[in-house]
Amino acid sequence: MNDAITSARTRPAAGDNSARAFDVERIRADFPILRQRVHGQPLVYLDSAASAQKPRPVIEAMDRVYESAYANVHRGVHYMSQVATDAFEAGREKVARFLNAASSDEIVFTRNATEAFNLMASSFTRAFLKPGDEVLISALEHHANIVPWQLAREQFGIVLKVAPIDDDGNFLLDEFEARLGARTRLVSLTHVSNALGTIVPVAEVVRRAHARDIPVLVDGCQATPHMAVDVRALDVDFYVFTGHKVYGPTGVGVLYGRRELLAEMPPYQGGGEMIASVSYEKTTFKAPPHRFEAGTPPIAEVVGLGAAIDYVSDIGLEHIAAHEAGLRAYAEERLSAVPGLHIVGRARDKAGIISFVMDNAHPHDIGTIIDRAGVAVRTGHHCAEPLMHRLGLTATARASLGLYNTRGDIDALARALHAVAEIFG
Ligand SMILES: *Cc1c(COP(=O)(O)O)cnc(C)c1O
Repeated sequence: MNDAITSARTRPAAGDNSARAFDVERIRADFPILRQRVHGQPLVYLDSAASAQKPRPVIEAMDRVYESAYANVHRGVHYMSQVATDAFEAGREKVARFLNAASSDEIVFTRNATEAFNLMASSFTRAFLKPGDEVLISALEHHANIVPWQLAREQFGIVLKVAPIDDDGNFLLDEFEARLGARTRLVSLTHVSNALGTIVPVAEVVRRAHARDIPVLVDGCQATPHMAVDVRALDVDFYVFTGHKVYGPTGVGVLYGRRELLAEMPPYQGGGEMIASVSYEKTTFKAPPHRFEAGTPPIAEVVGLGAAIDYVSDIGLEHIAAHEAGLRAYAEERLSAVPGLHIVGRARDKAGIISFVMDNAHPHDIGTIIDRAGVAVRTGHHCAEPLMHRLGLTATARASLGLYNTRGDIDALARALHAVAEIFG
């Protein structure tokens, strides 16, 4: 293992975390972009659910790869190739520990979460589904967990079913269970809704699905930045997340899969890296995870993701969750006082995502006006059009929290929204 890659952050001993109180100003100092001003105002970044900003250790880890430890991985006998391969595979180990996977062989790197779902819709479907077999998703899904199954429906004749939510955005366990049938082959649903912040009771979903021997795939894109995830405690069979939302780089996603299920799945793409041997007559494939990683992988990005995992783990996901829970309560209180503003998504259990609409003001107008005050929120359907339709909306504005947000950020948001209310009141 190359010292240049690992030296930047040494992890504190277990139990050390509580001694170092969560210090948001110290955290903010790690994020160079937060020092920017936009439109002459300090940047108030409330769009981490779309993509989180990057701390200096992530940026520096990737720089170090290109400056001192770079070559293509896995095939080389020369020094640099071995150093790069060690750094890359160390990233896989970090992801395995982050999710508490039983083995790093259960960690497949993809381009992003979307590619992980496409891999599943292709490879899992070919391994385990026949025409007429069913995949059950929920009404909270991101398009990444809808559209690949529709493509599989066209190609393989599978059936897509949807478990409902209530008007507050709560996932309905009994309604879900009622849709598990003799032909259900997979449950695929989100851990945390990116549009509403609803936390789905995944452990209970798994319990009810496993009682019928149905495996469960979970979309963890909005869970991994905000809470500790343990795939073995949750007992999930597959778990997906994306690097750039957990303070890591773009260009890398993760598919965790239970070893015995991955072993039965055919390749998703063909090419280099994934083969055992090739002839024109017959090609044999490597075992997972390499079977699913055709072509040169995202080398520096995997090292950057490893650095991001170290970063959030050093702070402690439980401290991040507590910080964001306090901020969310504060934000919901401040926003509720804005005339004509309605929070969308009032689930009992929520992460740091606040969707809202305002009387008379279109979400795009809200977003554009408050941008002039330096406040960045996302507006639109949040890649969840069927969910918006379920709620009788076409769009919302969404403020999403990250570990670097402060009460001052929420105050700036509330001030800007009061100004919007005056314009459109
Ligand atoms: C962002 C997101 C995705 C897709 O992630 P990509 O990095 O764009 O592939 C999928 N699901 C949820 C819940 C998300 O928030």
